[in-house]
Amino acid sequence: MFLLKSIPKVDKFIARKEFSELPLSLVTTLAKEIVSELRENILSERVTTFSEEDLVKTLLQRYEELTKPSLQTLINATGIIVHTNLGRSLIDADAFLRVKDLVTNYNNLEFDLDSGKRGERYSLISKCVCRLLGCEDVLIVNNNASAVFLILNTFAKKKEVVVSRGELVEIGGSFRVPDVMKQSGAKLKEVGTTNKTHLYDYEKAISKKTAMLMKVHKSNYSIEGFSSDVEFGEIVKLAYEKGLIDYYDMGSGHVFDLPYGLDEPSVLDYMKLNPSLLSFSGDKLLGSVQAGIIVGKKEYIKELKKNQLLRMLRVDKLTLALLEESFKAVLLGNKEQIPTIKMLFCSLDELRDDAKEVQSQIKQNIKTKIVDTKTLIGGGTTPNKTIPSIALAVDAKNIKVKKLQKLFRERSIIGRIEDDEFLLDFRTIQKTQLQQVADAINEIADV
Ligand SMILES: *Cc1c(COP(=O)(O)O)cnc(C)c1O
Repeated sequence: MFLLKSIPKVDKFIARKEFSELPLSLVTTLAKEIVSELRENILSERVTTFSEEDLVKTLLQRYEELTKPSLQTLINATGIIVHTNLGRSLIDADAFLRVKDLVTNYNNLEFDLDSGKRGERYSLISKCVCRLLGCEDVLIVNNNASAVFLILNTFAKKKEVVVSRGELVEIGGSFRVPDVMKQSGAKLKEVGTTNKTHLYDYEKAISKKTAMLMKVHKSNYSIEGFSSDVEFGEIVKLAYEKGLIDYYDMGSGHVFDLPYGLDEPSVLDYMKLNPSLLSFSGDKLLGSVQAGIIVGKKEYIKELKKNQLLRMLRVDKLTLALLEESFKAVLLGNKEQIPTIKMLFCSLDELRDDAKEVQSQIKQNIKTKIVDTKTLIGGGTTPNKTIPSIALAVDAKNIKVKKLQKLFRERSIIGRIEDDEFLLDFRTIQKTQLQQVADAINEIADV
């Protein structure tokens, strides 16, 4: 086989001048991979000719793919603010800069400066959070899923947890309440029916084995029509009377009252009920980093801290520092410093101005129209409820909407299709990205 014999030897191939600047070990790995593929392809007659130059090109290509960052910046033009596929909540750029110093130097993460002894990382932000939310204590874990798991495992292992059947939800990314409960060692005691649960259902389900009455936010679905569930306040009261723990997995957890007539109670509203425990996500409507925030009574938080599991679910200094930035912004009422909240509260006039600015830079050969539209907040925060928004409908005569969506995606812009129209929704496009959007539209007009 002449072709087999002409396969270059790896050690000779990697010595070529094209690779002289690259790390030898990685080049060797890639060269071996390419040579071995080539041998197989020749034997199976999928390759009948090749040049060494082709192999060089392939190697350089793979090197490039392997070493470039795989996470890249996108423009979210879907209008969905808490977009789970696009990184959920944005971090404020100034907050990130303030945190940079802290995480690129040593710090007092677990060091008490007064006593010179070991400190506790969770105590760092507890003052701020407790003052803000009116809770006795707080604990931060990796995400809200961890919070649910830790709470169930700590208080309800081999015991029963009463939950309404209508709240046994599955949330994106395969978080299923019954499965999480099983893994944690807790026994699910479901009560009520899919559409209706009453307080007496909880009451009847309580036995010697009961540890907790739990409520779960329905998040990504809602039941319309003949339906009712039990308010968390009633569950708190019942749990208190029966000497049990009450717990609400609130899901999103916002601290500012929502605009546009959305009447979801906030964390502050729920804290007024004086619950045992409540948990929510750091990067849904709180608008901070990925984290699970557990708030409630000191005695229960203390128990949670004793669970070995916490060592596995604990958060890094980066998370704590960014979370503190967000909580401070809330404490000071600075909505502008929390991008998620800023986007949520942005007025339609301002969005229209952004749309006009982009439109003013667009060439003649592509048609755009500013339209009033509606968008979802996302992240299972307010299921089935929309908020008003402004979008640019893009109409490139000869290009079908699906193709148009792809062309924008190739330029890092993720838009949405509605009624066979391609829309760029300004609710989630950042001010710093307007020029890039205009440039992309002009580029697509030329294809
Ligand atoms: C989103 C959500 C979770 C999971 O929270 P993560 O922060 O994504 O881990 C758990 N429960 C409810 C009700 C949710 O909405």
